[in-house]
Amino acid sequence: MRNLITFFILNLLCQSLTVNADELTVTLLGTGTPIPSIERFGSSTLIEHKGKYFLFDVGRGATIRLSQIGMYPSDIDNIFLTHLHSDHITGFDDFWITGGIWQRANTLNVYGPDGTKSFVEHTQGAFSLDAFYREKQSSLNLKGLEVNVTEIKEGLIYDEDGLKVSAFRVDHGAVEHAYGYRIDSDRHSVLISGDTTYSENLIANSQELDLLIHEVSVIEPKLLQSNPKLKSISKYHTSLQQLHKLVEKVKPQKTVLNHLLLIGSDETELSHLLETKFQDKNIDVGHDLMTIHLR
Ligand SMILES: [Zn+2]
Ligand SMILES: [Zn+2]
Repeated sequence: MRNLITFFILNLLCQSLTVNADELTVTLLGTGTPIPSIERFGSSTLIEHKGKYFLFDVGRGATIRLSQIGMYPSDIDNIFLTHLHSDHITGFDDFWITGGIWQRANTLNVYGPDGTKSFVEHTQGAFSLDAFYREKQSSLNLKGLEVNVTEIKEGLIYDEDGLKVSAFRVDHGAVEHAYGYRIDSDRHSVLISGDTTYSENLIANSQELDLLIHEVSVIEPKLLQSNPKLKSISKYHTSLQQLHKLVEKVKPQKTVLNHLLLIGSDETELSHLLETKFQDKNIDVGHDLMTIHLR
């Protein structure tokens, strides 16, 4: 009898270990836009799976947010860029060079749209004197500053150790090469929209999501009507009405909003609108350092 109980306990333990082994932990490092904000840094989302870390966009302050959760850039080997708008990449130089100073052990892989190679090379060029000084003064190992860039197309771009990352095109106006990412482990799926307006292609890539991380814009209607610039900005972001239609179609288990573009509006109003128009949708306004565990 005792053996039987031990067997059941061990079996339960093994099952829970198996479940935990496939846990995905999502941390929003930055949920802001180009508008400077101490609360909302530039776009950046960290995903952890089986002890490996993956970074999606590296906006303003990403390295600071990492330090707030006890991490260094050198803990992360793979970065995926959605597009090359500044608010998604202005944290790259800090992330890359700080990782090098902290003796990055593995070459940093950067996946991104056309133009990523040039962006990375120019950043490296801009910091070449710094690298030279550090090598002379403190024997910095320049290997830690090497970057392996892959310019992506739609489809599967990473597949290792039970984690798949796929890219798909989104609609971000003049930004010809703008992508969203879908992340699949054995049991869980997360989708990061990147910057986009309502996108049928995003919907086509959104089957059975545990978590949808999506951008949103709320621009006060009178401002929108009277300001041609805002009107054009609104065309390449997602309004609440569009978001509602999208969530209705995709039916994710949970939706978290990031990249909050609020003009003539604020978070109180956004929360109110979500409460009244999205009652049964399990949708939250994301915030920097929000963590979601998918177990
Ligand atoms: Zn953008
Ligand atoms: Zn953006």
